Amino acid sequence: MPPRRPSLHDLETGLRAGRRATLSRAITLAESTRADDQALAQELIARVLPETGNAVRIGLTGVPGAGKSTMIEALGVWLIEHGHRIAVLTIDPSSARTGGSILGDKTRMQRLSVRDEAFIRPSPSSGVLGGVARRTREAMLLCEAAGCDVVIVESVGVGQSESELAELVDTFCLLLVPGAGDDLQGIKRGIMELADVIVVNKADGDNVVPAKRTAGDYRHALRMLPPATPGWTVPVLTASARDGAGLAEIWDAIDGHRTLLDGAGLLARRRERQQLRWLRGLLREAVLQAFHELPGVADALADAESAVAAERATVPQAAARVLEASGLRATV
Ligand code: GDP
Repeated sequence: MPPRRPSLHDLETGLRAGRRATLSRAITLAESTRADDQALAQELIARVLPETGNAVRIGLTGVPGAGKSTMIEALGVWLIEHGHRIAVLTIDPSSARTGGSILGDKTRMQRLSVRDEAFIRPSPSSGVLGGVARRTREAMLLCEAAGCDVVIVESVGVGQSESELAELVDTFCLLLVPGAGDDLQGIKRGIMELADVIVVNKADGDNVVPAKRTAGDYRHALRMLPPATPGWTVPVLTASARDGAGLAEIWDAIDGHRTLLDGAGLLARRRERQQLRWLRGLLREAVLQAFHELPGVADALADAESAVAAERATVPQAAARVLEASGLRATV
């Protein structure tokens, strides 16, 4: 038997009081595909919206094994010791697509997860309404309403989810390891262009010198790129998540970036742009789905595809036929 659905009032009160169980429940509702759960979740989010938006929203990405979870744990504990309440959310497109996850069952961030000041939400495996970024965005709002003042969104999508991540956060951090070149680290130029802060992790033991060299290489490479934030010089730091070295410097860099965004009025603009793109994206998805469900469209599309494959029609002609069959007054 699933637990009784909580009332809107209980959810709102629990959330405002910062109760982790309520937060968890609210996120589950927002992830649900049931219409009544969705309605409740949206009503709740609408009510607490004025309490959201105050957190420092950090995105962290890097190839598997770079040390993301070790870093989040180290930085998270450090932040808690400095008076913060943090949330950790994960974008894992692999889980939405396959029902499995790159993260598998490994228990991550054990030291952080036992702290009351931390809220860690593992990625749901499947059945989530409307895209990986949407559920993370709504989870982020709920975490903020529950009093988290730092939200770390981790992307484990390896090359697929970075731009989605950048759409969600204020400061985008790229985690690298010493030694390997761009290709080996799977870091594409596009990802470098998104970065606001770069950290070369595992700068410990024999890796201290290679880490410094790698940082220098990246500093050099960055000179060729425009910064993601105008007026901001992307810092390239070295750190050891294992030893907890360099954490204060990482936070200073994130905080400095945030201060710059705030001071120049860029934060509000950036978030507004993200919201508007989300609005348009949601509408695009919904309209497209409704289009495919119109009577006649599926058959017309199948015909159009074979006509294109057999070179019996040009692509615009084929598209026009599908539109005509749909009854929509649209032209290509
Ligand atoms: P993720 O896949 O990016 O989340 O990487 P993990 O945090 O799971 O770390 C991958 C491996 O690297 C683990 O064996 C960690 O113990 C190790 N690791 C992480 N950070 C450091 C570090 O700062 N120094 C060293 N030497 N090893 C680290």
